[in-house]
Amino acid sequence: MIVGDSSLADGIAKRSLTPPVDYTVVRGRRKTMAVLVRHQAVEVRAPLFVTQAQIHDFVTSHMPWILRKLAHKAEQDAQRPDLRDGGSLYYKARKLRVHFVSAAAERVEVMADEIRIHGRALSPERAGRVLQRWLLAQAREQLPSRTRALAEYLQLGGRLKEVVFRKTRSKWGHCTSGGRIQYNWLIMLAPDAVIDYMICHEVCHLRHMNHSPQYWALVESVCPDHRRYVRWLRTHEHRLWL
Ligand SMILES: [Zn+2]
Repeated sequence: MIVGDSSLADGIAKRSLTPPVDYTVVRGRRKTMAVLVRHQAVEVRAPLFVTQAQIHDFVTSHMPWILRKLAHKAEQDAQRPDLRDGGSLYYKARKLRVHFVSAAAERVEVMADEIRIHGRALSPERAGRVLQRWLLAQAREQLPSRTRALAEYLQLGGRLKEVVFRKTRSKWGHCTSGGRIQYNWLIMLAPDAVIDYMICHEVCHLRHMNHSPQYWALVESVCPDHRRYVRWLRTHEHRLWL
């Protein structure tokens, strides 16, 4: 056996597997390696003691996963709200074309395949503000009464103190032990069935301030398809974040 030759062959084999993606290495006090894919960037977290070659092997062995993840992120990015004139936005699970209409009065019109944003000198930022004011107005108009009706049906009306709106970074709804339910107005972009599930989720917290089996049994009694909507949110919520 010629050791030199075999190690050379090994080296060539490794190079031919060179990942077609760039990645950055962040070293730290950790025991194992991990690879993260964020948007279109690949990052490897590695302990201080591992060699460059070990990192390379690690990345190579995870390449199918990395490529799948990158493709998935690219697909998600293509579905994010694009508020340029001619861009696109998912509204109630319909992909609508964004159309700017130059007008003094700000308003939003939803057509079959188009969302028209009216305003003066619209930019994507300005259109985003017009759209969000419209979503907040929709939320104010619809969510308190829908919340109140369900709370009363479940005989929890006495515990519901108020419904407020806030755009938080990671949450669609929130319920405090004091009986205040908070919604993120961006949920108005979601299909109505998903909004109903979210209302149900928060109202049921008026009885159970946890996610215990009793809590889920109560959710199930008024929203038997809740698992579907939880899954919908997990899969599609990137379409809603403005
Ligand atoms: Zn909850």
